[in-house]
Amino acid sequence: MLDSTLQGTYDQVLRRNAGEPEFHQAVREVFESLELIQDRHPEYQEHGILMRMCEPERQIIFRVPWVDDQGVTQVNRGFRVEYNSALGPYKGGLRFHPSVNLGIVKFLGFEQIFKNSLTGLPIGGGKGGSDFDPHGRSDGEVMRFCQSFMTELHRHMGEYTDVPAGDIGVGAREIGFLFGQYKRLTNRYEAGVLTGKGLDWGGSLVRKEATGYGAAIFADEMLKARGSGFDGKRVVVSGSGNVALYAIEKAQQLGGVPISASDSSGYVVDENGIDLQLLQQIKEVERGRIHEYADRRGNGARFVQGGSVWDVPAAIALPSATQNELSEADARTLVKNGVEAVSEGANMPCTPEAVTVFREAGTAFGPGKAANAGGVATSALEMQQNASRDAWSFEHTEERLTQIMKNIHATCLETAEELGRPGDYVVGANVAGFRKVADAMIAFGVI
Ligand code: GLU
Repeated sequence: MLDSTLQGTYDQVLRRNAGEPEFHQAVREVFESLELIQDRHPEYQEHGILMRMCEPERQIIFRVPWVDDQGVTQVNRGFRVEYNSALGPYKGGLRFHPSVNLGIVKFLGFEQIFKNSLTGLPIGGGKGGSDFDPHGRSDGEVMRFCQSFMTELHRHMGEYTDVPAGDIGVGAREIGFLFGQYKRLTNRYEAGVLTGKGLDWGGSLVRKEATGYGAAIFADEMLKARGSGFDGKRVVVSGSGNVALYAIEKAQQLGGVPISASDSSGYVVDENGIDLQLLQQIKEVERGRIHEYADRRGNGARFVQGGSVWDVPAAIALPSATQNELSEADARTLVKNGVEAVSEGANMPCTPEAVTVFREAGTAFGPGKAANAGGVATSALEMQQNASRDAWSFEHTEERLTQIMKNIHATCLETAEELGRPGDYVVGANVAGFRKVADAMIAFGVI
């Protein structure tokens, strides 16, 4: 049970947003942390901050018609939730996946507000996407879908207004088609209106790697804070998309041994350590299935159909697939197998019950809004480069990313300490992220 003010607001959120369980989950998790600061900040209540923060500034839903390769007309639904612009233009990715609905976009947009605030960079929170499934679609179909999507969305965008990027199902190919159509419709080469662009046309080095790198760096910081490290330890990673691939790469560079990857069909375990080049070839280049890794690697790698990747014993876990992929039972298995640190590469991959298990066991737990903030932070660095018509080196950009992740880690730790909850990164991330946005909203008056 939450305290009465928070409970009242939460009840209103439930009433107003019926049937959106992921959104409710994201709000509740933040509210549980805010209980700790209720008494210290009467001004938040006085200015209606909580209710305003839960209500998106603008929600756009639109039809996306397109014609498939057979000449059949298809209709998808497009979304953009412009959640909060107190700290900067709306910023957050687009997700193309059949599971996308308004509740999913709102949960992601709500998380994004606090994540973006934690980066310390001037970006507000937003998220969008569509229930379109790029899997199995030709390049031509993906292009026509993206052009139709952008034909509607472009009127809501702008480098000072709303700056989308990628997320699940939206990578460099999709960003290319989206940017091309934006450029054509507006007749402006407004590079800073989209991030995750290709390197030849306004993209930033390290952006592709940033989310996964950041999640591994955050794990390393949590381990170091406990006098530990990757130190040749086994690392279990879920997913095999952009986040997972580069979490594996950075975990290897930091001295860990990543031994798994997964997709919706199952997972692979490679006791010798994941061969990243092979995994990239199968997943990034060929867009194939995960079992092909085991088929081609030989050497004791095995594919497990279905099942839970969290059954694989490891000292460090980097959940990098999707929301609610790691259950309470999975958390118990990880704890039983001696997991030291869990760093969320995906958005909200651990269920609330799983997070409770980690907290009670004393596992270092890095919530996504802190641990995976490296992606959007590097998007903000891409915007900086676009604004100054510059292109930074890999080393410089990676150094900035690393420093940002270290700062986020330190901010979370200090805030948790201040609130009498040492080592609680969930509380630290929620409260530190929230305060900056709340204070800016108070400064602006009731808008
Ligand atoms: N989709 C990513 C996230 O969840 C990145 C967003 C961005 O770069 O704007 O933070």
